[in-house]
Amino acid sequence: NAKQQSTLEPVMFEEMMLDKTVARYRLDSQLRDALARKEFSLFYQPIVDLESKEIVGAEALMRWHPDGPTGVMVSPVEFIPLLEENDLILPVGRWLVEQALEDLTRWQGNGHSIQQISVNLSAKQFHDQTLLEFIESTLNRLKVPASCLMLEVTESLYLDASENVDRFLASLSSLGISIALDDFGTGYSSLSYLYRYPIQKLKIDRAFVTNLDKGDKHIRLLQSIIALSRSLEMKSVAEGIETETVARLLQHMGVDYGQGFFYSRPINAQQFEQLLGESSRQ
Ligand code: C2E
Ligand code: MG
Ligand code: MG
Ligand code: MG
Repeated sequence: NAKQQSTLEPVMFEEMMLDKTVARYRLDSQLRDALARKEFSLFYQPIVDLESKEIVGAEALMRWHPDGPTGVMVSPVEFIPLLEENDLILPVGRWLVEQALEDLTRWQGNGHSIQQISVNLSAKQFHDQTLLEFIESTLNRLKVPASCLMLEVTESLYLDASENVDRFLASLSSLGISIALDDFGTGYSSLSYLYRYPIQKLKIDRAFVTNLDKGDKHIRLLQSIIALSRSLEMKSVAEGIETETVARLLQHMGVDYGQGFFYSRPINAQQFEQLLGESSRQ
């Protein structure tokens, strides 16, 4: 009855909260251990020139294997927000850039013609005072030109619009590092950041690409995004290309680069190097 319910509910609620806190605490310490035990790795997904079909770059995507390389894999959508919450994203973020650049120089050293590696930056990292210097010294140590590094930022950085962000992005681009705006069109779209920040590439979110064959309106929306990036002299990259039909359509519409399962799923560094070898023989 009603009375019983009202005394039960708060108890259940508290238990749920407790469970959540415990779960959160466990995950938190798991993540710290994971970092120490090197359970994180980078997978790579090719970025393809839609016209020449050549692999011109790769996006580094983080993976977590809590039970070793052969065990289950946790999605970054699950653990990146947690890394951000407890600032672990700062040391992890430095490791990401270093690992990605080391892999790139190894591939280039083995004779592959890949030009650029893209690394995702979390908005939190704009407040990491040491990041810029770390990137610069890593580039120097590995003797990689800064233009080989692309950093992907999302529109959420605009929420944070501060002198910090301005200064950070300006320093990146004065070093010669490229900046891509990731998931374009899904965020807090105030277009003013397109001229406020030094952005070279727009990554058109998968949401606009997946629906391309669903009709005219989707096509026209995409056309205006392409026109926008052209008029601002930015290159465009389409995410989430899953079929050849969509790849052709995008190329026809004037998108510069593409990424998606049609070309390859994200794969580990060794598999990626193999892919580079195969695609250059074609
Ligand atoms: P994102 O940067 O937009 O990365 C693209 C995501 O789309 C990847 O998911 C990729 O696997 C997926 N994807 C690529 N092609 C296709 C396709 O054809 N179809 C479909 N359905 N999906 C496709 P993933 O690897 O799960 O990463 C999800 C998000 O997590 C990334 O979105 C990025 O925001 C974040 N993330 C991943 N790695 C890192 C990292 O190292 N640092 C930071 N800060 N964020 C990361
Ligand atoms: Mg990205
Ligand atoms: Mg993206
Ligand atoms: Mg995306």
